[in-house]
This record gives sequence, C-alpha cells and structure tokens, in this order.
Amino acid sequence: MSQSFDKKGRLKIPAREVPREELIVTKAMCAEGHDLISEEHKINGYPGIELAFRKLNGEEGVVVLSPILGDSTSVFLKGEVEEGETVKFLCFICDRELPILSTCDHCGEGYIYVLFLDDTFSFNNAITFCSKKGCPNSSIRKSDKIITALGL
Ligand SMILES: [Zn+2]
Ligand SMILES: [Zn+2]
Repeated sequence: MSQSFDKKGRLKIPAREVPREELIVTKAMCAEGHDLISEEHKINGYPGIELAFRKLNGEEGVVVLSPILGDSTSVFLKGEVEEGETVKFLCFICDRELPILSTCDHCGEGYIYVLFLDDTFSFNNAITFCSKKGCPNSSIRKSDKIITALGL
C-alpha cells in the first residue's frame, strides 16, 4: 500500500512546512519593555532569551532559554535548577518578576510566565513558558495556544 494513503485509504495531506523564521522569537520583553533577547548568548545558532531566576531558598541565577518555539534547550550562566524544580523568573534588567498568566495546566505546580512580543504588551501576542524545569510547557510557546488550552 502506498504511503500517501492512511489506514482508511484517505490521501494523506503533507503538513505545510513552516518557515523556520516563524518559529524563532526575535523580541521578548518584560512588562517594562526591556528586550531580553541576548545577541551574546546564542542557543542552537540563534540569540537566546536571557532571564534571571530566584529559587524558593533565595538562591539566584541567570538562564538563557532557546528562542525556538518548542525547544527546551537552556543554558545556565549562573546557578543551576534541578529537574522538577520550580523557580520565579525575573527580568535581569529591572529585576521585577515577569507577568504570570496562570498556574500550569500540565504539571499543576509551575506558573505560566509571559514575555511580550511587541509593545502592545498584550497577553495575546506573547510567548509563555512554565517555571518548572522539565515540564513539557517549559519550552516557549505562543500565548494564544496556551490561552486556548487553558480555556481563558
Ligand atoms: Zn525589565
Ligand atoms: Zn508546567
């Protein structure tokens, strides 16, 4: 049987190839408008998203998240977070905690943090990530997807 048909004999329509640029965030701002994209710290070849974090025990650190949607690669510049650990995320420029959309619907422990993609500061044009390391929601995603998933 030809691979172009599924089990019921229907023609499989190949998924549209998404141009890579659509999947890479080139601007990510805190509520004060500080752009947290770091030209200095590239991840998988693209400028990463630099964030400060604070642990429950008060320890602080700095992490760079991958700017590629759905990619959970991250690099710690200072400090470390264990798998399964939940932290607070802050803007490394103004030191304010980033806006939170809700608790995570996936792990139930982390918070869904928000970074804005433009200066309308709309939750609808933003990216989100869960604050629990290792949660499938901890890689960045478009906020409209998560808003739909949460039924907000
Ligand atoms: Zn800031
Ligand atoms: Zn989560």
